[in-house]
Amino acid sequence: MSENKKPEKIVGIKGMNDVLPEDAPLWELFENTVQTVLKSYGFQQIRTPIVESTALFSRGLGAVTDIVEKEMYSFTDSLNGDQLTLRPESTAGVVRAALEHNLTYDGPKRLWYAGPMFRHERPQRGRYRQFQQVGAEAIGFSGPDIDAELIMLCQRLWDDLGLQDVRLELNSIGNADERSRHRADLIAYFEQHATVLDADAQRRLHSNPLRILDTKNPAMQAMVNAAPKLLDYLEADSLAHFEGVQNILRHNNVPFSINPRLVRGMDYYNRTVFEWVTDQLGSQGTVCGGGRYDPLVEMFGGKPTPACGFAMGVERVLELMKATGERFAASQCDVYVVHQGAPAQLQASVAAERLRDAGLDVVLHCAAAAGSASFKAQMKRADASGAAFAVIIGEDEVANGTASVKPLRAAPGEARPAAGEQHAVPFETLSSFLVDQIVGGDVHDHGDHVHYRH
Ligand code: ATP
Ligand code: MG
Repeated sequence: MSENKKPEKIVGIKGMNDVLPEDAPLWELFENTVQTVLKSYGFQQIRTPIVESTALFSRGLGAVTDIVEKEMYSFTDSLNGDQLTLRPESTAGVVRAALEHNLTYDGPKRLWYAGPMFRHERPQRGRYRQFQQVGAEAIGFSGPDIDAELIMLCQRLWDDLGLQDVRLELNSIGNADERSRHRADLIAYFEQHATVLDADAQRRLHSNPLRILDTKNPAMQAMVNAAPKLLDYLEADSLAHFEGVQNILRHNNVPFSINPRLVRGMDYYNRTVFEWVTDQLGSQGTVCGGGRYDPLVEMFGGKPTPACGFAMGVERVLELMKATGERFAASQCDVYVVHQGAPAQLQASVAAERLRDAGLDVVLHCAAAAGSASFKAQMKRADASGAAFAVIIGEDEVANGTASVKPLRAAPGEARPAAGEQHAVPFETLSSFLVDQIVGGDVHDHGDHVHYRH
């Protein structure tokens, strides 16, 4: 046995990805934008645990959904034998929490959440085993106005993110009675075309025939296209609700197309269902899905309470931002402070603190290895940080009571070669000088190092 045999490397779990610092600014931009948009519609954040009782999902989502059939990460709590599951989605948890804390006691609630979800799927582009969702749940609202509001909220988000290639598909899946009449006709129709059904469809024929309409199998498309349409089974109330949603969207110039084959994966949906889709992401083109789920609260033991919501796949939205954004540049800080010699190092730490007091984001050069780095090596780091300015403090500066300030770039991300002259700025006025330059001088949107243009 060799003593210096390297230990085996432990790697991450397949389908569960690291978000590396280079992507962090994009995430931050998305998260800030989505928070601002949700807040502008009066939605309040709710944070529920990642682990819930398995029963919450098996009861809530319906036993014959993809998620419950094969995608859940479930385990037994070894301490007490409880059956637990890593949440595959958040609607069930949010509704559970709303009931448990009686959140709707004083009227309906607009709620939103963000966080990781877990599904045991085959990992591929846009499909992961841990992925991030942002979602909204409007609990206690019955009219088409909230359905339309949720949709328009998404539209505003795409607009604010500069995404153009997202389109809205809309459908109504009616109520349980309407669906059961349609279902009987649908099963009869599929039985007539039994030879065209693939194994998945055979399996679903009696458990969840609606989902067969959702098939991606090209060989089944023609047959499925001609199947009885649920829309033709809707009665006055459901039709009026659906028309109400469309009317509001039309008045707000939100384009949509009606997709009679659109159904949702979960059993608890009724009436309005919608998806935001794009052609830019290959086969994982649905960036957001939602709809009305009036039966769910009662299924969880609450009073009958209408509700409507959506969930978006953040990784897919970010892919789209990357694919369609013209430019994306991020910097680590506003100012990078370099120094040489022990007295300068002390002075530099004080200067950096004063700059932070003034609200600037500052990286102070710190030793990476024994011994001090040359000015040249430090300036390379300063440049790589994307800072607008380097502050240079050496022996001369300490002796003179000034710092040398060197502009590094004209605008974020744009290196200005042999950038402008250095200024000698007294330590006492260094903060106000740099704040002026950075905040006032339009060199940088202060406080926001992310510049995403389209
Ligand atoms: P799909 O048909 O793609 O499996 P779904 O109907 O299972 O989607 P939902 O449960 O409605 O998806 O989740 C809402 C959104 O979350 C999806 O539209 C998608 O953007 C995203 N999403 C779902 N599953 C994954 C996954 N495994 N990896 C990444 N994003 C996902
Ligand atoms: Mg799925």
